Amino acid sequence: MVRKVGVLALQGNYIQHKRMLDTLGINNILVQYPQELEKCDLLIIPGGESTAISKQIDRNKFRQPIINFVKTNSVLGTCAGMILLSSTKEANNLKPLGVMDFKVERNAYGRQVSSFSGNLHLEFDNTDNFKAIFIRAPKVSNLGKGIKILATYKNYPVMITDGRHFATTFHPEIGTDVRIHEYIMEQINA
Ligand code: GLN
Repeated sequence: MVRKVGVLALQGNYIQHKRMLDTLGINNILVQYPQELEKCDLLIIPGGESTAISKQIDRNKFRQPIINFVKTNSVLGTCAGMILLSSTKEANNLKPLGVMDFKVERNAYGRQVSSFSGNLHLEFDNTDNFKAIFIRAPKVSNLGKGIKILATYKNYPVMITDGRHFATTFHPEIGTDVRIHEYIMEQINA
């Protein structure tokens, strides 16, 4: 049962995630100190700039606390947050947490000007009408065996889970469609 969601508030789109949780009536806090993780059962790592978030994670001594947290709790990483959850090799200023067994290619659709929106196919809804925003989004380049695909865009996986953790290459916190957050809460509560 999700009692409290923590939104990692070091850099990026944390306010929009908070707003979406508020809309759904889900108890949540902005997490700025590692001790605050103790009060949460789900952590959201937002989109933003993965190198900046990676640096802030280390500067604010979050790395080990997050690695411990995810052993018994869930985490949702969106866009830059997804890059941080991945097992992508460490590269200049970016040290992924290796929480989930997949790899990504960063900025795979091009630069900021190539950002776009598109309709996703949601496996759990069996609809093609979720309008997703991709902002300098990553692409999944390698999926581990235990990973299940929850949504695709043009047949590419854009939302995945390993059963406990969730990751999206797009920004489910932008806009008014709450289905992604809602689905994740249901899964964790089930
Ligand atoms: N391109 C960014 C990165 O690599 C991610 C962009 C985003 O989160 N919208 O960190």
